[in-house]
Amino acid sequence: MNEQSNRRGFFQSFATAAAAATVTNKNKGQLLAQAPGSLPFTVDSLSKGRESFINPNRVLLWENTRKEIRELLEGGQLKAAILPTGSIEQHNEHMAMVADVANATLISQQAALQLFPQVIVAPPSPCGYAPYHMARKGTITLRKETFQAYVFDVVESLKAHGIRTILVLNGHGGNHQPLQEALPEWRKKLGINIDADSYWSGTPQSELKTFVRSKQLTSHAGEFETSIYKAAFPGRLRPFTMEEYDDANLNYESDFSPEVEEFLRRDGRSFKNGEINLAGENGRDRRRQEEALLAHEKTGEIILTRAINFVVDRMQKMITATDARKS
Ligand SMILES: [Zn+2]
Repeated sequence: MNEQSNRRGFFQSFATAAAAATVTNKNKGQLLAQAPGSLPFTVDSLSKGRESFINPNRVLLWENTRKEIRELLEGGQLKAAILPTGSIEQHNEHMAMVADVANATLISQQAALQLFPQVIVAPPSPCGYAPYHMARKGTITLRKETFQAYVFDVVESLKAHGIRTILVLNGHGGNHQPLQEALPEWRKKLGINIDADSYWSGTPQSELKTFVRSKQLTSHAGEFETSIYKAAFPGRLRPFTMEEYDDANLNYESDFSPEVEEFLRRDGRSFKNGEINLAGENGRDRRRQEEALLAHEKTGEIILTRAINFVVDRMQKMITATDARKS
């Protein structure tokens, strides 16, 4: 598929998502005319390709009924799952805190739609591992063990239903290491084809440099993530100016309570050589805010398209590998 047709598909799927409710209502008469129990969109009509409508909810496990999932599993069509992981954490002054969960879920959903009905999206982790962001109010963090336990429990449930190919698609830097650490044990315990990666892994730095202008190519809350928001979630962005930022007089090196200090002590990024060490944090925070001004909707579309293609490709390879193991 070339870049242009991917872009078209990308837009179509958004239009489709927005129109989903309307289409369902419009088709009501038609639905009632169908044989009782038949689905509005059969697997047959969907397999004709991207021209036909796929309700984007169909690839979200939690939006399906048990009947729908059962039929897909028993028919052998549903083979794999993507489990998005993210974080609810501060994303500077301008981004709603859901970014990492929202981005990973969107990319998972778009990839699953391209592979429908082979792939389902499992419920995303509600939060992630982010103690080092606790000095900014609003951040919620799980303990590393809680986060790993969440992922394991979801994966184990999926396995019990017969899904033996699972990609954990991560959207938050702080989750990357805990996932990589846990993978070998999960593979041993579950005996399934499971992998974990972050959505930006599919685009090498050399390529990122061709369309991201900031020095920090994938910086948290900077040009990279703000661009994704501009393309996909403009309602989750707030206008800001650097004057407002400076007027807020933020100081992350010292402005935190003893309770917050406890969280900072948990993580090596904030606690070094027996001391809280946030040197450079104010400068980093301000630079992210400035780099967010470079964000562009088109940049976000390129990032998302590449991430979606990366996940589609990864899932196809994983499904093929699982099939080869069986035969
Ligand atoms: Zn983020």
